[in-house]
Amino acid sequence: MRSLAAVIALVAAGVAAVLVMNSAATGVAVTRLVGLSTDPNYVPAGAPLGMIGTDPDDPDDPWSAAAPPGGVIVQTPGPTASPSATGTIRIPVPKTIPTGPRRVGIQVGHWKTDDAPDELRRLIPQTGASWGELTELDVNLDVAQRLAAILAGKGIAVDILPVTVPPGYVADAVVALHADSDGVGQWSGFKMAHSARRGPFEDALLADVKKAYGDATGMEYDATHISNAMKGYFLFNWSRYQHSVSPYTPSVILELGYVSSDDDRGLMLDHPDKLAGGIADGILKFLSDTPRSKIFGQELVVPAFPSRPTRTSVP
Ligand SMILES: [Zn+2]
Repeated sequence: MRSLAAVIALVAAGVAAVLVMNSAATGVAVTRLVGLSTDPNYVPAGAPLGMIGTDPDDPDDPWSAAAPPGGVIVQTPGPTASPSATGTIRIPVPKTIPTGPRRVGIQVGHWKTDDAPDELRRLIPQTGASWGELTELDVNLDVAQRLAAILAGKGIAVDILPVTVPPGYVADAVVALHADSDGVGQWSGFKMAHSARRGPFEDALLADVKKAYGDATGMEYDATHISNAMKGYFLFNWSRYQHSVSPYTPSVILELGYVSSDDDRGLMLDHPDKLAGGIADGILKFLSDTPRSKIFGQELVVPAFPSRPTRTSVP
């Protein structure tokens, strides 16, 4: 993940808060996508949603937010709203909700980077962390395959995903696997993050995997080095990339540990089943606590993006 840090956008602080409101709170009837395109406030997939950006290290900053696959309905503030009000964005429930067994996506960090679409082009040279002969891709792929086998054994439908995820990918949960290096072998531990633009389910997914992974591996949680690049990771950065999961798909990124750490690397090489088993336990707990009807049963409403770049704190 470390090498991705430079190329993945920081989530703008000003719009980080996410509101998930039900139809009663918003006064808006929950509607399916059918017929939405006739709404005058409909913004189709990929069309601009406003400018966003506060990251001076990002060469593309400020950048334009874009509507995710399926499009959205932008609700501008009413005449009585305060001058600072930006309105809201309604994200329709995906047209195709998974049916049958629970579905889980496991993304293998840096896998098949060469196939990345134009919007993710800058990832092509990013091969990830390494330590001696060991690359994080080796670790990510090995753990992903073990994890997939465990979940499949529990009746879960599993998709092992490369760097390029299907636009608007819908599943009951997604975990992106990475490993890190500090270059010197000093840091140890695992890290997690989710998108700043989604709330309740990501928190639960993160907490469940964090607890189970820590218990299974005995690794410490490294809360100190969670980067903004992790929080803005392209897999769940739906307001910037079309090749990201649906805003409805609960998604987290997990940095499995540091390949540069003797302790962490020892676990990765000698006990990969412990890593995979911990993640599986966390995912299974999440799925058992979070029925599909809950994940897709309520329309998402998030704050609209500002119409102009907000650069109030340029250093
Ligand atoms: Zn990585």
